[in-house]
Formats: sequence, C-alpha cells, structure tokens
Amino acid sequence: MKSIYVDEELELLRSQVRRFVDEVVRPNGEAWEDAGEIPRSVLRRMGELGFLGMRHPVDYGGAGGSALMSAIFAEELGRSTFGGFSVTVLVHTDMASPHLRNSGTREQLERWMPKVVSGETITAIAVSEADAGSDVAGMRTRARREGDQWVLNGSKLFITNGASADLVIVAAKTDPRAKGSQGMSMFLVERGTPGFSVGRKLEKLGWRSSDTAELVFEDCRVPGDRLLGTLDNGFYEIMKNFQNERLVLSGMAVGESREALDRTIRYVKERKAFGATLWDKQVIRQRLAMLEARVEAARQLLYHSAWLLSQQTDAVREVSMLKALAGELVNEVMYACQQFHGGMGYIQETAIERMARDARVLSIGGGATEVMLEEVAKRA
Ligand SMILES: Cc1cc2nc3c(=O)[nH]c(=O)nc-3n(C[C@H](O)[C@H](O)[C@H](O)COP(=O)(O)OP(=O)(O)OC[C@H]3O[C@@H](n4cnc5c(N)ncnc54)[C@H](O)[C@@H]3O)c2cc1C
Repeated sequence: MKSIYVDEELELLRSQVRRFVDEVVRPNGEAWEDAGEIPRSVLRRMGELGFLGMRHPVDYGGAGGSALMSAIFAEELGRSTFGGFSVTVLVHTDMASPHLRNSGTREQLERWMPKVVSGETITAIAVSEADAGSDVAGMRTRARREGDQWVLNGSKLFITNGASADLVIVAAKTDPRAKGSQGMSMFLVERGTPGFSVGRKLEKLGWRSSDTAELVFEDCRVPGDRLLGTLDNGFYEIMKNFQNERLVLSGMAVGESREALDRTIRYVKERKAFGATLWDKQVIRQRLAMLEARVEAARQLLYHSAWLLSQQTDAVREVSMLKALAGELVNEVMYACQQFHGGMGYIQETAIERMARDARVLSIGGGATEVMLEEVAKRA
C-alpha cells in the first residue's frame, strides 16, 4: 500500500537496501548466526554504500536525512529475516551514534563522526544494568572526577555490539546524591581503555548474529573531554533519542511481519492437506488476511510517526503506541506463521523458525510494551 509520506527518493533508498539484503545478507546470514557476529567487512561495505551515515551531518560524510529514512531502512533490514544482523546495524546507526550527533562537541564530532559514517568505528549504547532496565533509576555505575580525568566503576548488562564496538556511549551516575534518573551523565569510552573489559558474551534465544555483552568498568580512566553532553543531564540527553530508537525497532517489527506473512502465504498456497491447499481453508486465509490488515495499519503508523519526528513535533504518544503495537503484533504474526508452517516451522532449515525466535525481544527491549502503554495512558 502506498503512503503519502514515502516519496521517490525514499523508494529509491528502499530498493538499494533491498538489493543489499538480497545479495549480501540473505546468502550469508546463516554463517553469521553460527559465528555470533557480523563481519566487519560487511559493515564497512555498508559504510561505503552510504547506509551508516544517512542521518548524520553532511559535514562529516553523512546525508543529513530524516527519520523517514530510518523507518524505511529498518523496515527493509527487517525483511532480511536475520534480526541479529538488523539490530547490529540499527544500534550503530540509530540507537548509539545519534547521541554523538545530538550531544557531541565539535571536537568530538570531528574525531569520531567520519569513522562512524564509514563503518571504521562501530558504536554501542550502554545504559541497562542488572538492576536498571525499564527503570534506569536503579543505575549503579558511577563516574567521579579526579583531576582532569573521569573514573568509571560499575557494570552494564545486555549491551548490543558490546563485545565488538570500538566506541561505547556509557551512562553513569555523576551525582550519587541525586534521586532517580537525575545526576546522570554520558561518556565516550573507547575499546582498549584500561579498566574497561567485556565480562561475558551472552547466549540468547534469538538475534544470534548480534553480539550482546556484559561490560565491566573497574577504575576505568578516561580524559575529561570524554564527557558527552551536559554534566548531570545525561538522562535527558539519552531521552532525546528514545523516540528514534523505538521507531527503528518498530520498523524492524513491521518489516519482519510483512516478510513472514509473504513467506507463509506462499507456503500455504502450495502445501496440500485434506485434498486441497491450506490456502483453500477459509480459516487460514482469513487469519492471514486479518494479520495483513493489522501489519499494514502498523506500517502506516510507522511512516506517520517518522514524519512527525521529521517535523520536530512531539511524537511520544504516537511512537509509544507504535512500539507497543508493532512489538506485540510481530509476535502474533510469528505465532500464526509458525503454526501454518506445521512441523517445518519448528525446524531450523526454515526462516520462520529463526524469525519467531528473533521477534520475541521486540516487545521487551528498547521499551517494554507495558512501559510504552503507560506513556500512551499518561497522555490520554
Ligand atoms: C537482546 C537484548 C539487547 C539489548 N540491547 C541493549 C543495549 O544495546 N543497550 C542497553 O542499554 N540495553 C539493552 N538491552 C536492555 C533492554 O532495553 C532491557 O532488557 C529492557 O529495557 C527491559 O529491562 P529489564 O530487562 O531490566 O526488564 P524489567 O525492567 O525488569 O522489566 C521486566 C518486565 O516487567 C514488565 N514491566 C516493566 N515495567 C513495567 C511497568 N511500569 N508496568 C508494567 N509492567 C512493567 C515488562 O513486561 C518487562 O518486560 C537489551 C536487551 C536485550 C534482551
């Protein structure tokens, strides 16, 4: 279905991403799942093609594009059927590096942004901890000033790109007396900084080609100029990108849902049981038709929310609705698609088996459904 928000330029982007997914991701995705990571050469290639800097300033090699570009990009990566690949890329482009763009000084931008855009420097965002997920008020990681340095102590959990990133944006409490999410700041920490280590790589149900790690900071010293944004204002700086983060996770969910439905419709049109194809069973085709309708509705809300963000309009209500809707819907879609694939849907040879595992986290990470619904309810 067409959208008034998606013009020719965005359709061109869609076809470029689609070609990359068909030629590079789909043939190699299984090997990346086995390896537990995406090869750097692939990310560098994406940098060369301009996919990693679409939202970043032209001055640093980016394209200065709008949130609609992120929405289309996420949707098309979602179609790849490899959620681990999609999230590796989107954490870098739309969840971690935007903090550098939004809050970085000229020096910080000059130093890191060109390599972020080219894919030489891959980023991660480290906010969550064992006792601070949905509610960051429980954050224990601390940063204290000593002379001209910051000293970080604490640990972070569930960090995407955590083991492989070159540059990690770390949230830490800088004013231990401040309550809740107050008194928090962001820091730029490079891989190899003494005192910064990867505790362990975490094995997961899905997203297996994405590295998810625990990060440890033990008297980790960084120069004073590694503070990102305003001191003690970190939570508000982090929040600046919340809507974009939720937008792309929803874009992934929409793309994955659409792809799963396409594959399942093809499958049930061929598969025969009780003297006819599964598609001939009204109960099956109507269930799929209703899911198609709901996915299309979510897709239109995705584009509308992206457009609101591109107009610098407050879109917390719409994006929260979208994230809650898309995160739940993709799981409903995967359940039905797996069901209609029968035994094959449970076998690792089929994409649907992986897609069902990958989808599970989309209603949990980056704002759980219940947290999103509270944001909607607050604005009722
Ligand atoms: C694979 C993966 C990758 C991740 N990547 C990153 C990353 O790169 N960087 C990062 O900082 N974090 C990352 N996370 C962390 C992720 O954002 C958190 O897991 C998420 O915010 C939920 O926090 P939690 O796990 O502590 O769950 P909790 O906060 O303990 O919540 C548990 C459940 O309780 C329910 N719940 C929570 N709050 C409410 C409420 N107010 N009302 C009703 N119900 C509620 C929800 O169902 C929720 O799922 C990642 C997580 C995973 C699993």
